[in-house]
Amino acid sequence: MRSFTYVRAPELAIAIEAGLRPESAFLGGGTTLVDVMRIGVVAPAQVVDLGGLPLAEIAVLPDGGVRLGALASNADAAAHPAILARFPVIAEALLAGASPQVRNMATTGGNLLQKTRCPYYRDLASPCNKRQPGAGCAAIDGYNRSHALLGGSAQCIATHPSDLCVALAALDATVRLNGPRGERAVAFEDFHTLPGDHPELESVLEPGEVIVAVDLPARPFTVHSRYVKARDRASFAFALASAAVALDLGAGRIREARIALGGVATKPWRARDAERLLAGEAPSSDVFQRAATAALQGAKPRTHNAFKVELAQHVIVRALERAAGVS
Ligand code: SF4
Repeated sequence: MRSFTYVRAPELAIAIEAGLRPESAFLGGGTTLVDVMRIGVVAPAQVVDLGGLPLAEIAVLPDGGVRLGALASNADAAAHPAILARFPVIAEALLAGASPQVRNMATTGGNLLQKTRCPYYRDLASPCNKRQPGAGCAAIDGYNRSHALLGGSAQCIATHPSDLCVALAALDATVRLNGPRGERAVAFEDFHTLPGDHPELESVLEPGEVIVAVDLPARPFTVHSRYVKARDRASFAFALASAAVALDLGAGRIREARIALGGVATKPWRARDAERLLAGEAPSSDVFQRAATAALQGAKPRTHNAFKVELAQHVIVRALERAAGVS
């Protein structure tokens, strides 16, 4: 491992200033950064530890929403009474990810910045545009069973690995940032970027900018929200396909729906056509299947991952059935 300078930031302004130095990386819980540093995929000259900042609070907001501090652990968020009562999809997504030990260390902010599990990204002998821009992509003509159906480009088809992010996308969350140019709020859907010609860029974070919190707005659909994940084994595995759904139900109808997909796209993926299809309908297997079909309409399967189209559709239907309480 390349030697590096370690800075523990005692306050946010110092973290931002330190983060502006070239080749800096912020350290939250360390469950991703330390991994990729150990194998030489990432080699910062300076690591800025955010662990001393007062950003671990989980606060209920005056309007009934919840603010997850960037350093709130995944374990604390999953067990918080307000999350369990009004945002169950968040708890389910967190509990579907990683192991209890990892959830104790992993943070809300770090979860948004997880690195892809594309095996070629972590193999220094393989070409990878995300790790080394311009090198090529070993996955496109290689073994791409775990790769994306949606949002890919000619440069990268890696999936985003987070479960939590899929739930946050479905709930219209907001990411709160602070950086050299002050504070700003970014709609969750706009936080991650598509790979396009620059897969090495994964979010709209600017140099020195720190995630300080994620806000969950109080909306009618959050209570009936569920997360369903299909994976190769029952625990500690990344999604082959997952769905976070939220339904505003009333008078036997779906007033409003939210659907986000994981494991099949290069970023947490909102299925807006499927959401529109559900609005105004009575919950039923037939309408859920039509929504699931619409959600995968633009899928571009590769050599080894075509099975994910049908798998994702099943996952969506199952999540909708659970959210609607019809199973
Ligand atoms: Fe790298 Fe993306 Fe290709 Fe994987 S899919 S090898 S991360 S460029």
